[in-house]
Amino acid sequence: MQMQTMTKKVTKSGAVTLPRGIRQATGLLPGVPVDVEADGEGIRISKHVPACSLCGSVEEVAWVMGMEICGRCAGLIGEVFDGDGRRKAAE
Ligand SMILES: [Zn+2]
Repeated sequence: MQMQTMTKKVTKSGAVTLPRGIRQATGLLPGVPVDVEADGEGIRISKHVPACSLCGSVEEVAWVMGMEICGRCAGLIGEVFDGDGRRKAAE
C-alpha cells in the first residue's frame, strides 16, 4: 500500500491520530486492538492477532483472566487442576 506521508504530533498522553485514509484502508475501526513495535528504523502498528501467552499458538485462543490462552493449553491446565483450582491427585 503506497500512501502519502503525513506529519502528526504526539499528544501529551502519547497518542497519535492515524489519518482517516489509513484507518479505512487497514480496517482499524475504533476499539480494534493493535500491536505497536519499534525497531531501529521506526514504529510499526498492526492489528493484534490473538496468540496464546503460554505456547504462542494462534488456534482457538480466548481471553482467560486477562491472558490469551489456547484451547490446548487450557486443556492441559484442566488435566492438572480441578474446577475449584485444586491440584488433581496424581494418577
Ligand atoms: Zn497455548
